[in-house]
Amino acid sequence: MKITQKRKVNRYMSFFRNNFGFRVPYQVLIDGTLCLAALEGQVRVSEQLIKYFQCELKLLTTQCVILEMEKLGSSVNGALSICKQFAVHKCGHEKKPVSASKCLESMITNNNPNRYIIATQDPSLREVARTIPGTPILYLHIRSPTLEKPSQLSSELAGFNIQTSIQSQGCTMERLRQIKKQELGTDIKEKPFKRRKPKGPNPLSCKKKKKKANFREPLENVGPSSSQPQRTKRRRRAKIAEHIRQELAARLNVSKV
Ligand SMILES: [Zn+2]
Repeated sequence: MKITQKRKVNRYMSFFRNNFGFRVPYQVLIDGTLCLAALEGQVRVSEQLIKYFQCELKLLTTQCVILEMEKLGSSVNGALSICKQFAVHKCGHEKKPVSASKCLESMITNNNPNRYIIATQDPSLREVARTIPGTPILYLHIRSPTLEKPSQLSSELAGFNIQTSIQSQGCTMERLRQIKKQELGTDIKEKPFKRRKPKGPNPLSCKKKKKKANFREPLENVGPSSSQPQRTKRRRRAKIAEHIRQELAARLNVSKV
């Protein structure tokens, strides 16, 4: 799978996870049309879908889908055997079966509360699924599984939910402020917005100061005539031992007397 395709799947599914509560393992409802396309394209559905979503999946079909395919006769036997590989999910039509498209449609009514991914090649069923917010739609494009971009209705509802949650947060803040005012007699003051001013030029963008050139003067200039003050030589005093100093002082005293 291409990286762009992988990113697209992740982006679309994170949209459904964040806005419509989808969780792994995702439940994929598969109908007969997809099984037929898989047979024609020699696609191993379960293997390809797990590879496509890169997570655990629950591949499901319904009794109505299987019954409809059985009615079509031997021409769809291969597709039927693919369909029978998947778990049969209860659809509520056990006593009175309906057409496969009606069955899957009924499974996603009321904003797809059980969070199914609809896997079908049927354009009319896909059209219906687009009108139900929070319904991911999957189909086989030539031989590769393809997830449709979230429908406009899904995007609109997600945007609306975000907006209402922001508004409700605003309401709770207002309520908090009222309670605090009642209880403590103080009001929650919002910090005034301060614009950060630049403190000075960015040191990284400034040129470094040039150091003064420190050339050595030529040797002929060095001497008493040169402007630089000459270094004076320190004279070291010879240290005289204490007993010698006393002896000398005694002798001096004797000569004076
Ligand atoms: Zn059904």
